[in-house]
This record gives sequence, structure tokens and C-alpha cells, in this order.
Amino acid sequence: MQADPTQRDQIRVLRPATPREAVALAKTTGAPYIAGGSGLQPVWERNGSWPRQIVALNPGWPGFRGIEETGQGLRVGALTTLGELAQHPLIHRYLPCLPEFMDQVAGPGVRHLGTVGGNLCAGGDLSALFLALDAQVHRLSDDDPQEQCQPLEDYSAGDGTLMTALSIPDSRQWRIGLEKLGYRERFSPPRATVACVHDGQTMRRAVCGEGGPARLRSSETDQDTELTAGGWQDPALRLAIQRMLAFLQEDIARDH
Ligand SMILES: Cc1cc2nc3c(=O)[nH]c(=O)nc-3n(C[C@H](O)[C@H](O)[C@H](O)COP(=O)(O)OP(=O)(O)OC[C@H]3O[C@@H](n4cnc5c(N)ncnc54)[C@H](O)[C@@H]3O)c2cc1C
Repeated sequence: MQADPTQRDQIRVLRPATPREAVALAKTTGAPYIAGGSGLQPVWERNGSWPRQIVALNPGWPGFRGIEETGQGLRVGALTTLGELAQHPLIHRYLPCLPEFMDQVAGPGVRHLGTVGGNLCAGGDLSALFLALDAQVHRLSDDDPQEQCQPLEDYSAGDGTLMTALSIPDSRQWRIGLEKLGYRERFSPPRATVACVHDGQTMRRAVCGEGGPARLRSSETDQDTELTAGGWQDPALRLAIQRMLAFLQEDIARDH
């Protein structure tokens, strides 16, 4: 990212007319995309360093905001806000665990601004569930005239590609466990979110938080090694993640 000790009021906001123009501007200027700004602004404030230019994403672009049924599941526009996600009737039908979980994702003011795409690009709380669901990212890049689709797991935010939407498979018959973890004995923010998804045949597990978002593939015995290699350095947090995953898996298996 093109960060400079620029003053906050000197930031130039670039307002591309189309998503394609946004991708081209991000490429030529090196400026970051900004959606709700609720993830970026606190970082700039904390570092006392603001970029010279930002590329503002427009929720009015077709397909960028809102949720619709596709026949195979749901399509969620990347600029759909967290608040809209939590309240949408289709989310209540397809992912009934999500609305209640969203109460733990920031406060109402941030959920009003923050977007699904911004949350996933920043490795936020939604990452664990969307990874475990094998969500697909629709994206635009400057070297490809067509919109491409790839697994969220392989999507690399920050390389100039623009996330336009997410595809989520039809999970109405699936079992889902989702939990946000923190050190309850200390008044500190939660530091991990874990998700388990059982589609009737396979159990999928994912985690996100301070160690970064990841699909977990190892057996339970190797999970500690996998988490450590993935960047989860705190042994107490690793243990909490593993215990919660085991609990969620048991819960889901009992339900099935
Ligand atoms: C007080 C407070 C509490 C918070 N609590 C939580 C919490 O509990 N859980 C949590 O997960 N997060 C939390 N956040 C972080 C943040 O608000 C959310 O993750 C939010 O969803 C980010 O979305 P945004 O649209 O504001 O992203 P932005 O800040 O606009 O962008 C975040 C990143 O994503 C990139 N980006 C955004 N949209 C796209 C796109 N379509 N394509 C490509 N790149 C894109 C940006 O360039 C940037 O790097 C909190 C923030 C605050 C200020």
C-alpha cells in the first residue's frame, strides 16, 4: 500500500465510474481500495500515516451490493454491509447461525459502514465461516477482461484485484458451528473465530483471527502443528481453538 506520512485532510479520493476503471486506477496509482473504511481508518489513525490517494468503491455498481439466490446458493455483493448481511431474509434462511453471530462482530455503527468484502479482505470474523463453506470469490483484475471466480482460500487481497461478490453454496441442509473466542478472564478483544461445516459427507474446519485466516486440513492430532505453521504462536490460544473445534464437531455430529 502506498502509505505516506500525508495529512489526513490531504488524501485525494479517486471516484472511478466503473469497476474496471477502479482496477485500472489502483494499478496505475498504487492507491488502496476503500469500501466502508472501518478497517482502514483506525490503522491509518494508529500509525499516524495516511495514503496520498484512495480508490473509493461504489455500492451502486451493478451486483456489488445485495444478496440474491442463484439456484446453487447465494451471491453476496462485496459491498453489502455487515448490517445488511445480518438482517437479510435469505441469510436467515440459508445461514441461520449468522445473524446471531453478527451481534459479536463490531458494534452497530461499524456494521452499518463495514462491508462483507472489506471484512474478508482484512481476514475479519466472517473469514472462518466463508472459508469453511468453500465460498468462491468473484474478482476483476487488470490483466483479464473477464470477471474470474476462485476459491476464497486462494484469493489474495491486496494484489490489486477487486472483489466484486461471493458465491456461497446452498447450505440449508448442512450443519454449521461458529464461535468467537477470546480470553474471557481478561478484558481483551476476542482473538479467534472458528467454524465447522458438515455438508452431509465431509467436515470442514477453518479459523481466523490474529494468526490469519486458514482452512484447517490436518487430523486433530496434527492440528497444533498446522496452527503453529499458519502463524498462531500463542499456545493458550491454539489450545482454545482446538478445544472449540472438537466441541463444535461433536455438536454437529450429534445433530446429524
Ligand atoms: C471499533 C471497531 C470494531 C471492529 N470490530 C470488528 C470485529 O469484531 N470483527 C471483525 O471482523 N472486524 C472488526 N472491525 C474491522 C472492520 O470494521 C470490519 O472488518 C469491516 O468489515 C471492514 O469492512 P470495510 O468495508 O470497512 O473495509 P475497508 O476498511 O474499506 O477495507 C478493508 C481492506 O479491504 C480492502 N477492500 C475492501 N473492499 C474490497 C474489495 N471489494 N475488493 C478488494 N479489496 C477490498 C481494502 O483495500 C482494505 O485493505 C472493527 C473495526 C472497528 C473500527
